[in-house]
Amino acid sequence: MADCIFCKIAGKEIPSQAVYEDEQVIAFKDLEPQAPVHVLVIPKKHVESVLALSGEDKELMGHILCEVVPKLAKDLEVDANGFRLVVNTGKDGNQTVKHLHFHLLGGRSMQWPPG
Ligand code: AMP
Ligand code: ZN
Repeated sequence: MADCIFCKIAGKEIPSQAVYEDEQVIAFKDLEPQAPVHVLVIPKKHVESVLALSGEDKELMGHILCEVVPKLAKDLEVDANGFRLVVNTGKDGNQTVKHLHFHLLGGRSMQWPPG
């Protein structure tokens, strides 16, 4: 989608520090890391948020959650101690980039409740 920063990252128009990539998904380091490990996992296809997902995306979401995230957790060595997977959505969720992304945060102990 034109003017979407994450579409531009997926299309290599904007550089990123990628840690994983396949045909459907790219994961890259967050520009402003909030933890020692902070990567963003995104579908290459533009989807605005979880609210814009449909039945057609079941395989893609299954791929991200069942395959990509566990692999990344192992590769980034946060599987043993755990990590947090966050999907900010909409205004109250403080979603700033309107292209669905999963924050994978780890390498330190997280607080609850979130801010
Ligand atoms: P959210 O607030 O959930 O929409 O998260 C957007 C995230 O994207 C923030 O953590 C930003 O630091 C991150 N971000 C924005 N632009 C870039 C970029 N060009 N490369 C990497 N991360 C980015
Ligand atoms: Zn996009």
